[in-house]
Amino acid sequence: RLEIKDLRRSYQGRAVVDGVSLRIMPGQVTCLLGPSGCGKSTTLRMIAGVEMQDSGTIHVDGKLICDTVFRVPPERREIGLMFQDFALFPHLSVADNVAFGLKKGTRAEKRARVEELLERVDLLRFIDGYPHQLSGGEQQRVALARALAPRPRIMLMDEPFSGLDNRLRDGIRDETLSILKEEDTAVLLVTHEPDEAMRMADEIALMRDGRIVQQGAPYNVYTRPIDRAAVAFFSDAN
Ligand code: ATP
Ligand code: MG
Repeated sequence: RLEIKDLRRSYQGRAVVDGVSLRIMPGQVTCLLGPSGCGKSTTLRMIAGVEMQDSGTIHVDGKLICDTVFRVPPERREIGLMFQDFALFPHLSVADNVAFGLKKGTRAEKRARVEELLERVDLLRFIDGYPHQLSGGEQQRVALARALAPRPRIMLMDEPFSGLDNRLRDGIRDETLSILKEEDTAVLLVTHEPDEAMRMADEIALMRDGRIVQQGAPYNVYTRPIDRAAVAFFSDAN
């Protein structure tokens, strides 16, 4: 499970993330939902460890990952990342892309894991192909397989489906969700689209100006917005 407490970050004296706290349990998807510029990506980057918070703590499965003095480096956090610019390594085969994050295990074990995941995203036939031979949606499914390969306990996703056309998006969202649930991953998904949050989240954390202003089950947040700004956000976005 992922627990963040009172995370804060300012740029040039302006608080961009202003005291964000969240707890995400295994198998649960929490959506950080809010308008452009409210601090969603900054929050995610601090959890990933590529950005340092000014204050606040991050725990994974009860273990301290980061506070203001102690810091586990990003590559040792065992947190999976999937961002909008999911670029695959163009010079590596599909199999090698998916295997990239696999550090432990024999060659045969790695190969088995790669095959299992490519089967799940329905791309086993491309295992020895290269990224340029795949469509955008197929590349995105490879990126998903790559992110899932090391079985991260925690997955951070920043608008991972926004580059896809509508026709592909629903299928990939559903497949992603079912794999994450099956592997019991704790997921923090960033989006500015209420539709996506409604579709994917167990819990929505509505963010504005660096703070979480409302949190709860999607249905409750959607049907009982906390204030007029929240009403406006839900109706504008649709
Ligand atoms: P979007 O939905 O557009 O991706 P967001 O909620 O992810 O928005 P952030 O990327 O977290 O927003 O940025 C929040 C604010 O912090 C923005 O006003 C942005 O300009 C500012 N910001 C982010 N990174 C930096 C930085 N490195 N230096 C200065 N300001 C920054
Ligand atoms: Mg962002």
